[in-house]
Amino acid sequence: MRYLVLLALLAGAPTPSRVASPESRVPAQPATERPLEIYFIDVEGGQATLFVTPAGQSMLIDTGFPGFQERDLNRVLAAMKEAGVSRLDYLLVTHYHLDHAGNAPALAAKVPIGTFVDHGETVEANGRQLYETYVAARKSGKHLEVKPGDKVPIAGVDVTVVSASGNHLARAMPGAGAPNPLCASFKPKDTDPSENAQSVGTVMTFGRFRMIDLGDLTWNKEQELVCPNNLIGKIDLYLTTHHGVAQSGAPVIVQAIKPRVAVMNNGARKGGSAEAWQVVHDSPGLEDLWQLHYAVDAGKDHNVAEPFIANLDESTAHGIRITAHRDGSFSVQNERNGLMKEYAKR
Ligand SMILES: [Zn+2]
Repeated sequence: MRYLVLLALLAGAPTPSRVASPESRVPAQPATERPLEIYFIDVEGGQATLFVTPAGQSMLIDTGFPGFQERDLNRVLAAMKEAGVSRLDYLLVTHYHLDHAGNAPALAAKVPIGTFVDHGETVEANGRQLYETYVAARKSGKHLEVKPGDKVPIAGVDVTVVSASGNHLARAMPGAGAPNPLCASFKPKDTDPSENAQSVGTVMTFGRFRMIDLGDLTWNKEQELVCPNNLIGKIDLYLTTHHGVAQSGAPVIVQAIKPRVAVMNNGARKGGSAEAWQVVHDSPGLEDLWQLHYAVDAGKDHNVAEPFIANLDESTAHGIRITAHRDGSFSVQNERNGLMKEYAKR
């Protein structure tokens, strides 16, 4: 093709439109297609993650802690402002614990929320008050109760629910389903009767980019997603489950989904355990682990190098920001020092 055009140019003749026609059949690549933006907000060892899709829709997964003079509420609002969104199309609450759902009522009072996504009834009798306060706030929008296999119908990104209410996906995601050899060495822990095991877990797929967020799903339930077959497949970006608390982050899943990059949503003194950190660190194919906080109790040997940590102590509230592209490439930026690293498409 290039040769023909060159010949035509050498001959001084205008390029015939017929010559150009084969190229016009190639679908135009939208060179300027907007990326998927993800903001991991520092809520001191809770969770609050904001997604803004290329179609301009927004979803927040979890809300951080309530109180502390609206500390986490203000951080979520600041992230929304930075992202240029004034409403949330979706608020997904993974489970009813203070560090995830606790701020939902305050947030719902501040910004319009289109649809509340959750797993339904709480399983914790002593968490009844938190749940009922959340349910009252939920009335300000629509409600979507999800089960594994359901989708959160946000425009521009596929969000598939992989766990909810203690249940898990019935069949493998596209391209996944291979036997997982790590299952042979899996050692179960005691059954977890708490809300953690009920967590709504999701896989976000944007073209070739894949991310997973399992909330605080615990050890035995993590295993059900990858044994005997890995129903999830490979992941580009892994939000460490349960803030890096050692009741979660079983090697059987972490090392089977083979994340390229992990972000740990730990606080200075919550999560970020040496044990869970080591499992992520040792995961085959891991290029980098980024942390929202320096984990005090884990010591230097179980924290990443400082440039990859967003907050070195509790005096700051920097986030970690991801920009993901349909071709699978993405970048991670530490808002504290501006360090940005690109992960090329593969
Ligand atoms: Zn939590």
